[in-house]
Amino acid sequence: MSGPNEEQLAFDSQHIWHPYSSMINPPAMFPVESASGVRIKLSDGRELIDGMASWWSVVHGYNHPRLNAAAKSQIDRMAHVMFGGLTHSPAIELSRKLVEMTPEPLQRVFIADSGSVSVEVALKMAIQYWHARGKPGKHRMLSILNGYHGDTFGAMSVCDPVNGMHELFSGVLSKQLFAPRPETPFGGEFDTADIAELERLLAEHQNELAALILEPVVQGAGGMRFYSPEWLRCARELCDRYEVLLIADEIATGFGRSGELFACNHAGINPDILCVGKALTGGYMTLAATLATADIAETISSGGAGCFMHGPTFMANPLACAVALESLNLLQEMDWRSQVKRLESGLKQGLEPAQELDSVADVRVLGAIGVIERHEPVKLPEVQPMFVERGVWVRPFGKLVYVMPPYIMSDEDLATLTGAMVDVIKALD
Ligand code: PMP
Repeated sequence: MSGPNEEQLAFDSQHIWHPYSSMINPPAMFPVESASGVRIKLSDGRELIDGMASWWSVVHGYNHPRLNAAAKSQIDRMAHVMFGGLTHSPAIELSRKLVEMTPEPLQRVFIADSGSVSVEVALKMAIQYWHARGKPGKHRMLSILNGYHGDTFGAMSVCDPVNGMHELFSGVLSKQLFAPRPETPFGGEFDTADIAELERLLAEHQNELAALILEPVVQGAGGMRFYSPEWLRCARELCDRYEVLLIADEIATGFGRSGELFACNHAGINPDILCVGKALTGGYMTLAATLATADIAETISSGGAGCFMHGPTFMANPLACAVALESLNLLQEMDWRSQVKRLESGLKQGLEPAQELDSVADVRVLGAIGVIERHEPVKLPEVQPMFVERGVWVRPFGKLVYVMPPYIMSDEDLATLTGAMVDVIKALD
């Protein structure tokens, strides 16, 4: 099938919600015909170099022969079968791989349908854990300002209250606690004063707190901020001291994006519970996982309920598990660390000229993530076509013009991408 025709586009704008879109004033959509490697092909034949990796997920590029083959071979066996009372090799081998790749204490795997669901699962695990330990009062969460953890209600309750529009849902969202964001940047000199308020909150509320949830080292959708691994190391110590679990949301950072396989590795720490998603299937379909220590899993299972209270219809969908397993195989076979390093230096070099521009507040790069932060927010309807005209796909939000390209992007394409970013920002000046 080719890209959507005029009639289909009219239907789209009248009937279909896109992410964070209005039904009164629907934003213009660019119709896509296909995608291959790092290129998205529009219906009118134009090809765009993709800087977004479809929101962090397409690390190996689109239409990858190995991922296609994994999906085709699995679909001929079974696309899906319920996971209650039944099991299958794609789920078993994927879980084995996740246990092997993630920090050693994480030994038990819950396969979830999306990043947000894996966060819900993590929050529930923390609550059930303390319940089973005879401390049902420990059911609140501590989170960090500027954090983002997903769009479902539990996940929303731990997102930044301003970015997450908590006032819209006040009275509905659980009232969680928020610590100030880490101010020490990645590579900066850490002072314990930066974590003093987090410690105060842990000390004061330890009897009601189940877990601290955070995005390790890279705060993504809540501000694209890179903070000191030393801060994270201290946070881990404080969680131990005050008997609060640590949930690491590595849905965006997992699988090499920040330059380490997991962002926790920058600090050499192990979380008690870990969420992964996005790049898990190489961006082919939705799948996520929540990993926990054996102690957490066994404590939950010895509690009143006798089990963990979650079980989605499409849990461990075999098709998604088979593709995810192949995606992780590909990651392990490729030298992802060198590729991410290569992208890191290309991003640093390519984005550096933006530093000079009056409209730019900051330029920062970590691993395969490049960010230009402006003083003023961009107007998306104005800038989106400017990127497309320059042959790249970049989707800014607020003051942030950022990219996280597929790991396979060539130096030449990366230079075109970063050149277009600088060029568009100059044109807005
Ligand atoms: N946590 C983080 C850190 C994320 O970046 C996202 C997605 N942007 C989520 C959770 C939610 O994942 P999903 O969109 O798959 O529900």
